[in-house]
Amino acid sequence: MVIVMTPDAAKDDIESVVDVVKRAGGEAFVSRGVSRTIIGLVGDVDHLGTLNLRSMAGVGDVIRVSVPYKLVSREHHRERSVIRVAGVPIGPGTVTLIAGPCSVESPEQTLAAAQMAKRAGASMLRGGAFKPRTSPYAFQGLGEAGLRILSEVRGEVGLPVVTEVVDPASVDLVCAHADMLQVGTRNMQNFALLQAVGSAGKPVLLKRGMNATIEEWLMAAEYIAQRGNLDIVLCERGIRTFETATRNTLDISAVPVAQRLSHLPVIVDPSHSGGHRDLVLPLTRAAIAVGADGVIVDVHPEPARALCDGDQALPDEDIAGLASLMQVMPGILGRELTPAPEPAVR
Ligand code: PEP
Ligand code: MN
Repeated sequence: MVIVMTPDAAKDDIESVVDVVKRAGGEAFVSRGVSRTIIGLVGDVDHLGTLNLRSMAGVGDVIRVSVPYKLVSREHHRERSVIRVAGVPIGPGTVTLIAGPCSVESPEQTLAAAQMAKRAGASMLRGGAFKPRTSPYAFQGLGEAGLRILSEVRGEVGLPVVTEVVDPASVDLVCAHADMLQVGTRNMQNFALLQAVGSAGKPVLLKRGMNATIEEWLMAAEYIAQRGNLDIVLCERGIRTFETATRNTLDISAVPVAQRLSHLPVIVDPSHSGGHRDLVLPLTRAAIAVGADGVIVDVHPEPARALCDGDQALPDEDIAGLASLMQVMPGILGRELTPAPEPAVR
C-alpha cells in the first residue's frame, strides 16, 4: 500500500499518517520528493485498509495494488500519462520523435545533427556527453564540455535536450544543462542513480536493461517514482537474445505489455536495438504501428567519422525518408506527430 501526500501536505500531516499506521501494527517508509511525499506501508493490508487514511489531512491518494510496482502501475492509475519535457508532450495521442547524435563530439557536429533532427520532424534533441562505454578504451564522451555544447545547440535550434547521466555524483551537473535525464541500459539497476534522478526534479528517460524483464524495468521506474518523480518515460531499446544478426533484439511486444501494466509512456530506440542504419526506418515503422508513444533515433552528419555507434546513425540522405515516415505513420494510428516547440517558447 502506498500513500501519496498532496504537494501542500504539512510535516504534521505526514507524522500523523505514520503514527496511525504504526499504532495499527504496520510500518511506514517516508520518501520526501521534490513535489510530494510518498509513504510506503508494510503490514496487514486488509487491516491498514480499514484505517480511513484517505480522509486524513494532507493525504492525496491511497494506492492498494497487487503488483510489486505500485506508483507506476496502471492498476491504480487507469489513464495513461502524458509527460511534458519543457512543454513537449510524450504520451497517448501523439508520437514524439527524439533525434540527435549518439555522442556530442564537437559544436559543429552537434549543431549539424540537431538540424538534421529538426528536418526529420523531431521535437527533442538527444546526445550523450557522458557515455557508458563497454570498453574503457573507447571514447567516453566530452563530459561537462559536451553538456555546454548541448545547451548552446538547444539555444540555436530550440529543441529540449535529453542526455545521459551515469552516476549520482553528476546528476546536479547534468540537470543544469538537460531538460530530461537519460538512464541507460547499463544503469537500469543502478539503484543509487535511480534514487538520485528520482530526487532531481527533471523528467527521466529510463531505458530497459538489456537483460531485464519487463517487471524489473517497471521496478526500476518505481525506484524513481518512489522519490516523488512520476515524470518517467520508458524506452525499449532491444534485449540480449541468441540472435547475432542484430545488435540487440527489439522486443516489440514489450511496448503494449508495458503500456498495459504501467501508465507511463513507452518509446522505442530503433537505433540501439537494430544496431544498423538499414534497420532504423523499418523498426521505427514497427514501433509506431505497435503503439509506441515516440522513437529516439541516432543521426550524424558524417557517420563514417562518428566516435560512437556510426553504423546505426542515419546520414543526411536518410532524413527525408524518416521525415515522410513521421508525417504519415502517426495519422494512420489516430495520433499526431508532436510538433517542435515554437521558437518563442524558449
Ligand atoms: C544511448 O542512447 O546513447 C545509449 C548508450 O543507449 P543504451 O543505454 O540503450 O545502450
Ligand atoms: Mn549509442
